[in-house]
Amino acid sequence: TQDFIQTIEGSRILNAYVVETPDKALEMADKADARLAKGEGGRLEGAPIGVKDLYCTKGVRTTACSNILGEFTPTYESTVTQNLWDEGAVMLGKLNMDEFAMGSSNETSRFGPPINPWRRKGDNAGLTPGGSSGGSASAVSGDLCLAATASDTGGSIRQPASFTGTVGIKPTYGRASRWGMVAFASSLDQAGPIAKTVEDSAILLDVMCSHDPKDSTSLNVEKPDWRADVSKGVKGMRIGIPKEYRMDGMSKEIDALWNQGIEWLKAAGAEIIDISLPHTKYALPAYYIVAPAEASSNLARYDGMRYGTRVAGENLTETYEDTRANGFGREVQRRLMIGTYVLSSGYYDAYYLRAQKVRTKILNDFVDAFESCDAILTPTCPSPAFAFGEKSGDPVEMYLNDVFTVTTNLAGLPGISVPAGLSADGLPLGLQVIGKALDESACFRVGGELE
Ligand code: GLN
Repeated sequence: TQDFIQTIEGSRILNAYVVETPDKALEMADKADARLAKGEGGRLEGAPIGVKDLYCTKGVRTTACSNILGEFTPTYESTVTQNLWDEGAVMLGKLNMDEFAMGSSNETSRFGPPINPWRRKGDNAGLTPGGSSGGSASAVSGDLCLAATASDTGGSIRQPASFTGTVGIKPTYGRASRWGMVAFASSLDQAGPIAKTVEDSAILLDVMCSHDPKDSTSLNVEKPDWRADVSKGVKGMRIGIPKEYRMDGMSKEIDALWNQGIEWLKAAGAEIIDISLPHTKYALPAYYIVAPAEASSNLARYDGMRYGTRVAGENLTETYEDTRANGFGREVQRRLMIGTYVLSSGYYDAYYLRAQKVRTKILNDFVDAFESCDAILTPTCPSPAFAFGEKSGDPVEMYLNDVFTVTTNLAGLPGISVPAGLSADGLPLGLQVIGKALDESACFRVGGELE
């Protein structure tokens, strides 16, 4: 813990932490030592962890990196983080993220973006660690924590993992409790870890997931021994390769990485099966209707009355308007406008309802595909980490980065990103493994083989 605290202090240039809690960390570490000395101790006893600023942490400022939450300091702890502390983990601080987890580059944070510890060969320009869990990815990759919590609504665990050479897994929807996580799009949001190895990610995920009566979508299901799955190998597994993910204009190096992954799995005894997910091309448009729609409803609570920032106007309506106009950043405002529009009477059927129907078709594509395979292998992202400003001028360009990740959120399925190679200019590239509902085991088996 002391080591990490020092490294964090010396690496503030990465802007990964938005709150550092060294005193709390040392106190927790002392207690962990005391328990270990007595021969007690949980599964994460003394393990120093960073927490995405999306998780409410009792007595520690939590703002989802939005101005609208001001200095909001929760009086309660999220279920996921409580699960970590109950097993002895130590909290190092809160990690940077896109405002309300909306983004793919972490450039929408009120604190400015964290920086990717990786650089292109021969070029010292700062790159984004991806988003929205950019602080988590930057911190794990830069050795500023052992592992971190993250969250994934459309790829925010897996894409930053791919950009930073780390491992990130989003479990099946309902595995982890959303209680005490700042809500973005409730039917898509899931908690998960970013870690250094597939085994670490299995240990973390196991601790993070639990049945929680405080979240009505939380599942009461058994958890297999995921850690054991990591070393089981893939002999006899059928791995699906979806032809629709081999998109026009896909870069040669991403294509080559995917082929390399296929070869590795074949060599390890897996059977490779061509599959089709015919509605893939509708996933991004459906996601960018469903997610903003749910966000516009979830973020209605930030009205200047209850939390954080209040910009007082002449009357109540003006106070609402001024608070929200000043408190939310541009990307969040864009989403709120899109979400309100697609839910408004007259447009609801044309946009929101249609997007929900597409969502069912995407889920059914996966159900059909899983008749002939046990797991699906795809690239995590269409590109390696990009430079700041490269995509932030054009929201659609930014949204396209999520093309391979949003499908699993729409279908509620588990997906892991594992570092699998380097780009020509020396940046990490990840492969994604998608499992059936509740079959994280398949993700860990294939992920463990690829690592
Ligand atoms: N990049 C996607 C978005 O901006 C996904 C974000 C996430 O998973 N939280 O909505």
